[in-house]
Amino acid sequence: MNSEELFRMAQDVLPGGVSSPVRRFEPYPFFAAGGRGCVLESVDGVEYIDYCLAYGPLILGHAHPEVVEAVTRQIRRGTAYGVPSEGEVELAGMIIDRVPCAEMVRFMNSGTEATMAAVRLARAFTGRDKIVKFEGSYHGAHDYVLVKPGSGAAAAPDSPGIPGATVSNTLTAPFNDEEAMVELMEEMGPEIACIMVEPVMGNVGCIEPMNGYLQFLRDITMENDILLIFDEVITGFRVAAGGAQEYYGVEPDLVTLGKIAGGGFPMGVLAGKREIMENIAPAGPVYQAGTFNGNPVSVAAGIRTLQLLDEDLYHGLERMGSYMRGGLRDILSDLDLNYQVAGLASMFQVYFTGEEVTDYRTARTSDTELFMRYFHSLLDGGVFIPPSQFECCFISAAHEMEHADRTLEAVEAALRECQGH
Ligand code: PMP
Repeated sequence: MNSEELFRMAQDVLPGGVSSPVRRFEPYPFFAAGGRGCVLESVDGVEYIDYCLAYGPLILGHAHPEVVEAVTRQIRRGTAYGVPSEGEVELAGMIIDRVPCAEMVRFMNSGTEATMAAVRLARAFTGRDKIVKFEGSYHGAHDYVLVKPGSGAAAAPDSPGIPGATVSNTLTAPFNDEEAMVELMEEMGPEIACIMVEPVMGNVGCIEPMNGYLQFLRDITMENDILLIFDEVITGFRVAAGGAQEYYGVEPDLVTLGKIAGGGFPMGVLAGKREIMENIAPAGPVYQAGTFNGNPVSVAAGIRTLQLLDEDLYHGLERMGSYMRGGLRDILSDLDLNYQVAGLASMFQVYFTGEEVTDYRTARTSDTELFMRYFHSLLDGGVFIPPSQFECCFISAAHEMEHADRTLEAVEAALRECQGH
C-alpha cells in the first residue's frame, strides 16, 4: 500500500491519521518503510535525507549496526523484568560521568514523564507551588506545562481538558529577557519552586541563550532559593557529551533528559543533585513509578549509543553543523533573502523572518506559510526536515559531506521555487 492509501485508512482508526500531532502535514504524511543511516525511506519507495531523525534521538542515524546488535542481544534475554537490572546502574553511571549536575538518576519512558516528575520533585523539595516556564518552550504533553502565555505572567491552558486550576500555578516569562525575570522574582520569588528552561529553545525553532543569560538564571534562582531545572530532552548528549550545561558552563539543580539517552527507544531521565534526588520514592516521599522504568531494551540502546558518542564524533557533528549553517547563509545571501539561520552544534533552522530571533515573540514574526512551501519543495528534492517552522533540524553522525551538499542544492532550489525566482 502507498502512503495515500495508508493515510486514508489511518484516518479512520487514528485521530488525524497519526499518533502524534506534528507528524501530520498536508496533503498527507509519507509512511515510513525503513531507515538506514541518515536516510528515511517511504512506503512509496522514495528515499529522503533525514534531518528530523525522529525529532532528535537518532544522533547515530537510523538502525546503527552496533546499537541494533546491543538491542538484539538484550531482547533475547528478555524485554522487561520488574526487578532492577545491571544496565540501569551502568547507564546511570555513564550519565553521571557526563552530565555535570547529575549525581543520581531516575529512569522513565518519555521526556513528558521526566518533566512531570521534575516539577513534582521541585515543588516537594521547596514546599512551594508556583513554577516558571518560558513562552514558547515545550516540556511535553502533561497538564502543568501545556500552557500558552496569558496576560502578564499568568498562563492559560493550551488544550481543552486542562482545568484552569491545574495551570494556575504555572507562570510564563519571555526567554532572554533579564528585566522581565527580575520583575517576576520581585513579585512572586518566595512562592516559586522552580524555573524550568530549555537552555536552547528547540520547540520554537532553535534559539540560543544570549551571552550570560543562563548564568543570570542560575544566580537569580540561587538568590531566591528556587530550583533551576534544565530541560535537556533535546540538548542532552546533543550539543556536547554533557549537554547544554557543559556547552555553556552553567550547572542547574536538576536536568531532564530523554531522546538520545534511549538510543532510539522510549526513554525519559530525571537527574540531579543527590540531596534533591534522594526525595524520590522509595528513598523519599515523592512518588514516581512506572512499569517500564529502566526498561532493559531502552537501557541497552542508551548504553551503546553513549559509548559511541566520543569526542571525535562531536567534533564531526560540529563541523557538519557549521558547514550546513554556513552553506545556508551563503545561499540566502546569494538570493538576497534576509532570513535568519539559527543553530549550534548539530542543530539548525532557517527562520523566514527579517527579524533577529531571540524569543517566542520574534520567532512568531516568521512567515509560516512560506516555510511550509519550503518544506514541501525540500521534500520534492529528497530532503525531509520537520514539517514546522517551530521545530529544529538535526544532523546525525551518519550524515556525510555528500549528503550535506545534496541538501544545500535542494535548499537553493527550494528557496528559488518558493520565492518564485
Ligand atoms: N522536553 C523537550 C525540550 C522536548 O523537546 C520534548 C519533546 N520533543 C519533551 C520534553 C517531551 O518528550 P517526549 O516527547 O519524549 O515526551
